[in-house]
Amino acid sequence: MRDYSNHTEHRAAERDVEITEIRSCVVEGNFEWNLIEVETDAGVTGIGEAYRGGGVPEIVEYTNRFLVGENPLDVERLFRRIVQEMSGHGGTTGKVVTAASGIEIALWDAAGKLLDVPVYQLLGGKFRDDVRIYCDCHAGEAYAVEDGYTEYADAEAYSPAAYAAEARRVVDMGFTALKFDLDMEADNEPDPYNGRLSNAAIAEKREIVAAVREEIGYDVDLAFDCHWDYTVESAKRLAYELEEFDLMWLEDLVPPENMTAQKEVTRATRTPVATGENRFRVHELSELLYDHGVDVITPDPTTVGGLAETVRIADRAEENYIPVSPHNVCSPVGTMACVHLGAAIPNFDLLEYHALEVEWWDDLLVREEPVIQDGYVEVPEEPGIGVELDREVLDAHLLEGTSGFT
Ligand SMILES: [Mg+2]
Repeated sequence: MRDYSNHTEHRAAERDVEITEIRSCVVEGNFEWNLIEVETDAGVTGIGEAYRGGGVPEIVEYTNRFLVGENPLDVERLFRRIVQEMSGHGGTTGKVVTAASGIEIALWDAAGKLLDVPVYQLLGGKFRDDVRIYCDCHAGEAYAVEDGYTEYADAEAYSPAAYAAEARRVVDMGFTALKFDLDMEADNEPDPYNGRLSNAAIAEKREIVAAVREEIGYDVDLAFDCHWDYTVESAKRLAYELEEFDLMWLEDLVPPENMTAQKEVTRATRTPVATGENRFRVHELSELLYDHGVDVITPDPTTVGGLAETVRIADRAEENYIPVSPHNVCSPVGTMACVHLGAAIPNFDLLEYHALEVEWWDDLLVREEPVIQDGYVEVPEEPGIGVELDREVLDAHLLEGTSGFT
């Protein structure tokens, strides 16, 4: 087995630092946000975030066995060490890579603080001062995913008029790019399992897209997400039907496992097609990029393998002239980490913001100004990611039955 522990002997004394503890906590926002801290013996603590949901705290706790005593400045080596040490735990993909992503981000934050530079500097430097945001929106009430079931509000909440009204509201907040969900209850008729769209379902979606376009015009960028629901033929029929609306992209039309099906859909339509959020590490995205199976790639840095892994994906995308728009459903911590990434890659397009309904989203950080202003985030110049948690707000929103950083 390859040994990714430290084999180097020469390092300046001021950078001879050790990790003393890695811990996590779960904050209940609109999702269960996994926040991660890496404490060092140099008086610096790095903060990161891993993609939402269960399993991450246990894996973070486990990594203390081999990461305590390591040098937090060796970010790339430590990411590989986690993957290698946990390869028998499915470490090359899935939740282990998600946990490793959050630790990797916390390591970059610690490294930036130790070296007194912002994280974008460590990722290669700056292409832009401000990162453009697209706002994930929900017509009516956002549907709730509880215990594995999707609960829709009544059908009126998803009327074309409701979509248009929400689009107007969000554009008036200053956003210049929006995304809505386009998968809906009608997709389950006449059969909830086979992934075929009825003519009525496609007509309903067309009406929604038309109503939003009529309300906000064509100067606002507009995307729709379908959450991997359809067969290839239904995906194509929908994409053809929406071509006239000049969408920014249609997202996740077909299930994510089959690259050939994805390519077939992407190549069939002039509507730009996006995917990437549920793939792990560069290995699960390269083929799509080299074969032009996607028009816009949407990896999630907090689950795909962290910031450096997303830079590697962006490199391959750039080589193939494909833009990168990171998926993001994080608290301000993970979001700000993605902002540094957006500053540091040439082919960055927009970053998702997915917490419109969380009124205290900004309050989680100690700062004067809201993170997002007029649809953009200014790239921080403070060392590390440039965020500080408000511990009182954090404690007030911990997942029920859990304690703070442990
Ligand atoms: Mg999506």
